[in-house]
Amino acid sequence: MRDKEKNKGKIKYHVTIKELIRSLRIRHILMFLLLPVFLCIIILLNFRMVYRLTADNIEYGGEYRVKSYSVAYEDYLKPGLQLMEYVAYNVEHMFKTGASNAEILEFFGHESDSYAREVNAETTGVYGYIKGEYLDGSGWVPDEDYVPTQRPWYVETIKSEEVVSYIAPYVDEETGDVIMTIARRLSDGVSVVAIDIKMNEIGDITKDLILQDAGEDAIMVLDEDGAVVTHSENAQTGLNYFETKDEPARSIAVKALEEKADRFDISYGGNDDVFYSRPIGGGWYVISQTSRREAFSKVFEAIRGSLVVAVLGTFIIFAVLIFMTLRRMEADNLTANLRTVAGIYVCMFKINLITDSYEEISCRSADLAAMITGSRENARMTLHELIAALTDERSREDVLEFTDLNTLNNRMKNSDILTAEFMNHKALWCRGRFVASERDRDGNLISVIWLIENIDEEKRARDRLQYLSETDSMTGINNRGCGENKIRKMLINGDGGMFILLDIDKFKSFNDNYGHDIGDKVLISVADCMKRAFRDNDIIMRLGGDEFAAFIPNVFSREGGGNIIIDRFLECVRSIRIKELEDVRIDISVGAAFYRVGDRYTFDELYKRADKCTYESKSKPGTQVTYYDERDV
Ligand code: GH3
Ligand code: MG
Repeated sequence: MRDKEKNKGKIKYHVTIKELIRSLRIRHILMFLLLPVFLCIIILLNFRMVYRLTADNIEYGGEYRVKSYSVAYEDYLKPGLQLMEYVAYNVEHMFKTGASNAEILEFFGHESDSYAREVNAETTGVYGYIKGEYLDGSGWVPDEDYVPTQRPWYVETIKSEEVVSYIAPYVDEETGDVIMTIARRLSDGVSVVAIDIKMNEIGDITKDLILQDAGEDAIMVLDEDGAVVTHSENAQTGLNYFETKDEPARSIAVKALEEKADRFDISYGGNDDVFYSRPIGGGWYVISQTSRREAFSKVFEAIRGSLVVAVLGTFIIFAVLIFMTLRRMEADNLTANLRTVAGIYVCMFKINLITDSYEEISCRSADLAAMITGSRENARMTLHELIAALTDERSREDVLEFTDLNTLNNRMKNSDILTAEFMNHKALWCRGRFVASERDRDGNLISVIWLIENIDEEKRARDRLQYLSETDSMTGINNRGCGENKIRKMLINGDGGMFILLDIDKFKSFNDNYGHDIGDKVLISVADCMKRAFRDNDIIMRLGGDEFAAFIPNVFSREGGGNIIIDRFLECVRSIRIKELEDVRIDISVGAAFYRVGDRYTFDELYKRADKCTYESKSKPGTQVTYYDERDV
């Protein structure tokens, strides 16, 4: 209810959702429907691309990654391997030159020292089984029950297809360390040289590799017997995949070690994992395991995310579109309403006082429109030029003052509308109006609407009405009310002057003897004499019947102008010629009183004084003039 009160009188331009829906066209609905479809197509295309990339990544990436893992392990094993090659070469040479085992042991000792010095301080050194004797470069002397040919490093190297064997980790009985051995069979087929490497480090490499590769599920190294040398899942290290009951794990060993497949799929809980396998020497195989499900689940996750974003995005876009459409429709409504109102106006402009720019809302004046083509800058200057060119000279100065944008803010401090009427260059009356449209927080104007209205007809009708209400219709001079008001105003302003009352003598007789029309003619002729004898500044009026009055400002005595003026008037009256009257004279009784500067009495008193004099004049025959002062003095 209160809102209704508030909105009373305001232009209605709000648009409801219902109105919005009603205004929808088929193309809008199609657009609303096509947008999500379009988004979905883009997402699905994107999905297809990502899916393919992921599939490719699993395939080619796996192959590439297993190569890089191999390099990491090979690099790790390289120093030991090289040492074994070197030692083997030298021992073979020493065999040929007939060197003794003692000399070979010395060589082992020397190599162990330099390996410990240069590569790995913790090494247990080079050792081996040479010509039926266990030789140890570190100087370690085995217990009596130590049978080298039964140790894994010897057994496996002898039986291996490879010359070099990497012996799977085992617990060294002496040190308790988990170690591996790089062993090399010599050409006699029974001698073996070997060096131990701590396994902790190879485990670290595996951990590093799996950390580096987010896409990989598992990295493992198997030896040719199926033993897990290292595995990214700690618990798997040390197991033997040929002996395990875990069927998929067994399959890995079969595929990689028996079938020597470099790529294979194994089903893990209904999900096909992709494996890549690569030999790194010593009968070891590096194997990578990639879960398809996990890789694709990320793709699906991303697509799900995209779809959610798309749905949300669509909603947001719709919301924004609806909001914008509502605003646009409201703006259109407002504009349509404004256009209706604009019909009243010749021109409507919006002027921004801050940026000194303006825009045309509507303009039906070809003259005005012709002057404002081009830039919409410099509102102040443009307005000045327009007014200077398109106003009548008589109005120009006033309108320039009225349209001065520099002073507008001050002039409109306390009112939202400022109006002025003026005559344009075609002598048509116009009304200019500034309406405050935007103010800042301090109430200073930001923008105004400038309206120009053609009020020529209205103005002329109004002027006519005013003229009629102020004028005696028969004689065309002021009527009593208007004339008296003017005099009263002058007296209030402190202006003095001479007030005279005129009464035609025996006027009734003109009516009676010559008819009313002739009486009228007499009245009109006397009024004409008043018009002629008095100046523009003088106030002349018909009081009614055959009585007239005049106020002549700044005349304060009969000698100081009074006589001359009254004589001029009476001279005129004497010269009145009305055919029907033939030689009958028109006599007038005149009474005059002076209102001097500083006098304080009222107009009624002044009137009374003049009236007394008129009465006095009346008492004598013929035209008579009586001055109030004269009689008093
Ligand atoms: P006095 O010498 O004492 O002034 O006598 P008078 O006849 O001039 O004055 P009076 O007031 O007796 O008569 C005025 C007459 O003027 C009466 C009225 O019929 C007549 N009259 C008033 N208005 C008009 C008018 O508009 N036209 C004409 N023709 N006569 C009018
Ligand atoms: Mg009279």
